[in-house]
Amino acid sequence: MKILVLNSGSSSLKFQLFEMPEGQVLVKGLAERIGEQTAHFKANDYEVSRPLPTHKEALQLLTDYLLNPDNQIIKDKNEIIAVGHRVVHGGNTFVQPTLITPEVKAKIKELFSLAPLHNPANLTGIETAEQIFPKAEQVAIFDTAFHQTIPIENNKYAIPDTFYQEGIRKYGFHGISHQYVSRAANKRLGRTDTKLITLHLGNGASATAVRNGKSYDTTMGFGPMNGLIMGTRSGDIDQSIIFYLLDKMGYTSAEIQTILNKKSGMMALAGSNDLRDIETAARQGDEKARLALKMYAGAIQKYIGNFTAQMNGLDAIVFTAGIGENSDVVRRMVSQNLDYLGIRADLEKNKDPKTYQGDITAENSPVKIWVIPTNEEKEIAQQTYTLIH
Ligand code: AMP
Repeated sequence: MKILVLNSGSSSLKFQLFEMPEGQVLVKGLAERIGEQTAHFKANDYEVSRPLPTHKEALQLLTDYLLNPDNQIIKDKNEIIAVGHRVVHGGNTFVQPTLITPEVKAKIKELFSLAPLHNPANLTGIETAEQIFPKAEQVAIFDTAFHQTIPIENNKYAIPDTFYQEGIRKYGFHGISHQYVSRAANKRLGRTDTKLITLHLGNGASATAVRNGKSYDTTMGFGPMNGLIMGTRSGDIDQSIIFYLLDKMGYTSAEIQTILNKKSGMMALAGSNDLRDIETAARQGDEKARLALKMYAGAIQKYIGNFTAQMNGLDAIVFTAGIGENSDVVRRMVSQNLDYLGIRADLEKNKDPKTYQGDITAENSPVKIWVIPTNEEKEIAQQTYTLIH
């Protein structure tokens, strides 16, 4: 059964076509700069640059590619039985993979205010896929859904209760990724009654405490700015700063949003949001880059301590996403000086985790340390398959 997975951004469309249940990837690619003068489209080894005014033209181009007899992928559009969509915010409503109906679309629209950058683009992707694949089942997989198991003591803020009633609470994000790697970690442990910390360290970053296979706490909150230091987002800051910027320094709310979302994090500390540049600069003695790495790793360590205390123990730490999978520097800095928690990495294995099936645990470390590549698309395909099968 062929399942298409779509991850729609405001000007991009990432896609993968899977043969399920095998999980074989038939096509992988993306369209970027949709709506700009020239867009770029890539599917497997086919690439083209041309205008793609909307997501519809991008998805049509993908369909043409799939149907092209030279590529031998599908003969008929109806071979695609389902389209699984990544939807960032499911609010309090969506805790499961969900078949898309007019009511579900209306609810996703209602949630625009909670995820103004993402949910509108996600809905555009859904509506476009409905037009192009009218016979396929459309399924929404929510990035917040995995975190719906977080107990109230961890999802409620200590502010007046009316706000909680209005939905102002911790939602958490990157749920599809945390779910995928935590399941893989439990498989390695051979049981599900486990205590894990999953570290999704990409341009956005979050850590999740996963207890017995369920999200128990996570670093992102009502929105995706909280918690760890990220590429361009600040992570935790004192709320008073916002009022000081607003009331004393004359910044507008929109300017503060831009500062905290796009001009903070590693960009503010080291002048780049690409960790490779920062590592190079640090190696060459750049003090700002060194401090940035120290703060980046330190923020993660603080949450490792926090989550280990909350769960009263820890079986494994999982590193994933662009930085987690590729930066031996960050993994080393995060894993060091945590002996008292039973966390010790093997620094040689850390340099080349692939050779060790991602296991970088030192021999005398009670807590396992694993590098497990995330695969959000595969997780979406699996959840979509399970729902419609
Ligand atoms: P993601 O959002 O998961 O695609 O991750 C993007 C981040 O991964 C960027 O900060 C990149 O600099 C970082 N990254 C990718 N490859 C490497 C690498 N080989 N070493 C260090 N960081 C990397």
